Amino acid sequence: MKNVKQIEQVIDKYRRHLLRNIAVGVALLPIARAPLELARAADAPPVTADDPNAKALKYTADASKAPDAKPGSKCDNCQLYQGAAGSAQGGCMLFPGKSVKAAGWCSSWTAKAKA
Ligand code: SF4
Repeated sequence: MKNVKQIEQVIDKYRRHLLRNIAVGVALLPIARAPLELARAADAPPVTADDPNAKALKYTADASKAPDAKPGSKCDNCQLYQGAAGSAQGGCMLFPGKSVKAAGWCSSWTAKAKA
């Protein structure tokens, strides 16, 4: 009987270990997918001038041509920009499935938080 109890304890320990690893794996899944999604966003079709969101937010692919843009503000230094550092274009939280130019700008520009 003692051996059965020991085997049950081992199985119980293994089950807890397995469940913990599954929970950690599930929790890390979004982090593992992030670089892939960033790469996809950079390859996504660019936001065009006739896009209704772009019009509403006054998006332009060239911040220097945006009369309302603060000097130096552009997608590249916006908190919502998802492109990799130094990238020419990348995703933006406001334009899911599309890419914006790093040199672009829109009226929702928000300064990137300092690290
Ligand atoms: Fe660019 Fe930021 Fe506007 Fe997105 S929210 S288009 S990253 S300025």
